[in-house]
This record gives sequence, C-alpha cells and structure tokens, in this order.
Amino acid sequence: MKNNVGQIIAISGNMISVEFNGNVRQNEVGYAILGEMHLKSEVIRVHGTVADLQVFEDTRGLKVGDSVEFTSELLTVELGPGLLTSIFDGLQNPLPDLAERAGYFLKRGFYLKGLDREKKWEYTPTVKVNETVRHGHTLGTTPEGTFTHQVKVPYLMNDTYTVSWVIDPGEYSVDEVVVKLRDSNGVEHDVTMIQVWPVKISNKYYAERLAPTEPLVTGQRIIDTFFPVNKGGTYCIPGPFGAGKTVLQQITSRHADIDIVIIAACGERAGEVVETLREFPVLEDPRTGRALMERTIIICNTSSMPVAAREASVYTAVSMGEYYRGMGLNVLLLADSTSRWAQALREMSGRLEEIPGEEAFPAYLESRIAEFYERAGRVRNYDGNIGSLTIGGTVSPAGGNFNEPVTQSTLKVVKAFHGLSRARSDARRYPAIDPLDSWSKAIGIIPMEKVEQAKQVLRRGNEIAQMMTVVGQEGISTDEYTLYQKSEVLDRVYLQQNAFNEVDASCSAERQQEVFDIILQFVDKDFGFSDKDEARDTLLTFQEKFLRWNTQAFQSEAYQKSLKEFKSTLA
Ligand code: ADP
Ligand code: MG
Repeated sequence: MKNNVGQIIAISGNMISVEFNGNVRQNEVGYAILGEMHLKSEVIRVHGTVADLQVFEDTRGLKVGDSVEFTSELLTVELGPGLLTSIFDGLQNPLPDLAERAGYFLKRGFYLKGLDREKKWEYTPTVKVNETVRHGHTLGTTPEGTFTHQVKVPYLMNDTYTVSWVIDPGEYSVDEVVVKLRDSNGVEHDVTMIQVWPVKISNKYYAERLAPTEPLVTGQRIIDTFFPVNKGGTYCIPGPFGAGKTVLQQITSRHADIDIVIIAACGERAGEVVETLREFPVLEDPRTGRALMERTIIICNTSSMPVAAREASVYTAVSMGEYYRGMGLNVLLLADSTSRWAQALREMSGRLEEIPGEEAFPAYLESRIAEFYERAGRVRNYDGNIGSLTIGGTVSPAGGNFNEPVTQSTLKVVKAFHGLSRARSDARRYPAIDPLDSWSKAIGIIPMEKVEQAKQVLRRGNEIAQMMTVVGQEGISTDEYTLYQKSEVLDRVYLQQNAFNEVDASCSAERQQEVFDIILQFVDKDFGFSDKDEARDTLLTFQEKFLRWNTQAFQSEAYQKSLKEFKSTLA
C-alpha cells in the first residue's frame, strides 16, 4: 500500500503544517522527509486538508514544500521481554545502543527497534493446538530477570482464536513466530513475543478494576506512616528546585516493596539525567542483592531534546507499566518532572495558536494530567492474577509556588500530596516533605487516630515555635516548651531519615509500627519537668537514644535491648 504523502506549508519550531489528500487522523505518525533522514512526527490537529504535526526532532533544514509521509499508524511502543534493564528515550530508542551506533549526540532521524532482535529467550508454550484463546490469554512464558514474563494474545487482536500451531520449547528471539492463531473467519495470524500498543490509549484489557487498598511500603517513615501511598494509587511530589524530589524518587525506587520500577526522567536538566544513567546501573537491589537495573526501565529525555519527545516519554512509560501490571506484577512509575511535560504541552499549544488558559497553559492541561494519572490502578487480570500500577510524579513549579496550574491540576487527581519545603531542605531535614502541608487519602500501615495524635503534636509544636519567635523562650511556659521539644524530637527521629545509613535508609512496615507506638508513648508521657533546662536535657537524651535505635538492625540484639529500655523508661 502506498503511503499517503503531503507537503509542508508552514514550519514553526517543532511544529509543521502539512497539506494532504486522502485521510489523515489525529495522533497518526508521519515522517518529514529531509534528504536521507525521516523525522518522526505525530499529528496533533487536523483541520480540513491541513494537518499540524509535532516533530520529535530538530526541524533544522526542513522547508516549505518538503514531503511528509503519513503512516496511518498511531504512535506505538513495542512490548515484550527485554524491556527490563533497558534505557530508552521517549520514542523507545535504546539509548546505550544509539550512543554506540550514532555517537552520544543523537543523530536526527535515527531510530532503533525498542526490543533487541538478537537476544534469545527461553520460551515455554502454555497452550496446545486446538485450544481456544482470547486477548490477555497467556500463550507462553519466558524468564525475564526474576520474573516469569507472560507472552499473551496481543491486546489488539479482538477476536476469539483457535490455536493452530505451537513452537517447541526452546530459545528464540522476540520476533520469531512462536504460535499461530486462527480467527473466527478461518484466517491464521502469526504471533511473536512482541506486541505493540498505542501509547496514548489507556490499556483496559483486564477483567476487573479493584480499589487500591493495599499500602505500598516505600520504607520512608514520613510517607508510610503519615502520608501513605497505595499499590495502584497515585501521588505527587511538588517542590522547589533542589528540595530533594529526584533524590526522594531514587530512594523510593530502591526500597519500595514493588516488583518493577519505571523511571520517566522527562526534561530535567541533562546533567541530572546523565547522573541517573550513571548511578542506576551500578545500584544494588536491597531486596535481592542483584542489580537494581534488573527490575528497572528508564525512559529519559533531557531538556535539550525536543519538547515533543518529552510528551511521548510519559506515555511510553505508562504503557510499559500497564503491560507488566497485566502479568500480575506491582509496578511503580516515577515521572520526574511532570512540569517539563506540561511545558511541552504549553509550547505546542502556543504554536497551534490555541486559546490559552491560566499562565498560557492549554485549557486541556487539567484533563491531560488527569488522563495520565487515571492509568494507574490495581486490577484483576483475565487469569485471576492481581497487578498494580502506581504513579508518582514530581512537579517543579517555578519558585516553589504551588498555586500554579500544573501543581493545582495534579492535586485534583492524585491520592496523596508530598509537598517538599524549601525551609526543610535548607535545614537538611530530609526527606523534606512538609508534615503540616502534605496529605494523603490512601490507606496506611498505622491507624488514622494514632497518626492524627502525632500530627497534632507537630501542629502544636509549630504554633509554639511561631510564638517563641515573637515572645522568646522566656515568654512561654515549661509545658509549652516541653511540647515544642517533643515535636522536634518526633520530627528529628521519625520524620527525618538518613538515606546514607545502611539501616536507617529504609524502614519496614513492622518496624514503623513498633517504633511509632514507642514514639507516641514518648510524646504522651508526662515527665513533670520543673524547668526548661531539665526538659531540654532530658528530651535531647531521648533524641540521641532514638537516633541510635534507628541505626540498629531490626530485631537485632541491640535493637531489642533499646526497645526494652524505652518500654521501661516510658511506662
Ligand atoms: P530536586 O530534584 O528537587 O531539584 P534533588 O533531589 O536533586 O532536588 O536534591 C538536591 C540535593 O539535595 C541533592 O543533591 C542532595 O545533596 C540533597 N538531598 C536531597 N534529598 C536528600 C536526602 N534524602 N538525604 C540527603 N541529601 C539529600
Ligand atoms: Mg530533580
């Protein structure tokens, strides 16, 4: 079939307007022809016989009159074994390969297959000839890292099929035909280990959507105890530049009790992305002792790549997340930063001369953000397995002002808000999540009433601190001073956590439950201090002991000894 070809009639930055004959549809992929190079583009608006396309590459050299070939296909991602351990750009080009073949400065119009065609996978069929199958039905499996990768009837094959041929167990590459399926019209279809998915469409191929009610334990006390996240839920981390958003996401990706982490590094500064690329492959998975990369996928675009590619990267990432959720796995997608993605939307909207909304963001910003987070969820798959896709996005508003459209639109859809504060990061109170500003509607590991008790201490402590800045330490009572010091201890030893200490870096749910009860006893205890000096000295001694406790391995002898001591002194 001959592809539909159009001619460029206008170019504005990364947007081209193309006059065409025939049919062109929204979100279809086209290639702008620049000599030998084919620059990948996506139709973002069609009006009459003109299509506006965002080009995923630098448009330098393109001119009016140049041709654009339309493919009649949507922007898709390749799904199959081999995604784990990979580092891709927003269009699923494997970055290390690209760098090898094209040099580190990516050549325009140079695309590689997402999945390695050479690598052999040990494939075991799980269906027999004459069996009846539908989409989502597993046809065979192959080990991928520590998981069993399920090769299924491709989502987009919407019929009921009879298995007409099955390959013998053995080692095959992803593009070899491993099974043949006959549809209801008698037509035979070849199926390989690869399937494609249109990235902008939410994958609803599961039996049932379940309420996300299970806590996702991140190992960070301030999150799990105070502002929890659920498996299949959503959360956001807004914060000013340098407050620790990226570090918090990295800590989470190491320690959270999930199977697979997908990191969508979209549009942050190139240096940071390079750092992620350098650090991740050498990190160890604290759960298995194997390489963390074995259960990780990184999708990255830096701010120096064209804006359109950033937009694609979040969709590529979420599509991969849905795919692994379909195998009954718990997936965590971390997007850093969604503000860069929103800026890409703003830039393209400006070029389309759409009527701008607040701060020149397009009017559909809110619905785009909502659609993205709504792809998270906990589901029962057709085979009964339960999987989840949790989405956590950072937001980096200019000047750390949360009253801006991206933060506000995000807050409307997410289930938890971990707001980072400049004051806390300046004071090196890490993770710098503000305990007074943040919230969560998710189900945590500690009963709400207990958490509320602790929050009340923090609120009162903060009020007393404010008072002290006006009237000084002399102006408040010993009781007030005691409460203030207790809230400081609670903050220092429970909310703050030392990412560099082997033990303290991650705190299990059981440990949090045990320690939190002791902390509550501590803040509740009436010490009957006679003056502020006594209060400060005693409470600081407690603080030292708590901090030491934090570094003692859970259930170790030292830990148990400390626990006993706290129990007897606080009784
Ligand atoms: P952001 O992504 O918000 O711009 P980063 O995550 O890059 O900020 O953090 C900036 C710096 O703050 C880090 O390089 C590190 O020095 C410090 N930092 C952030 N979080 C922590 C933490 N949990 N423990 C220790 N240092 C931290
Ligand atoms: Mg960052």
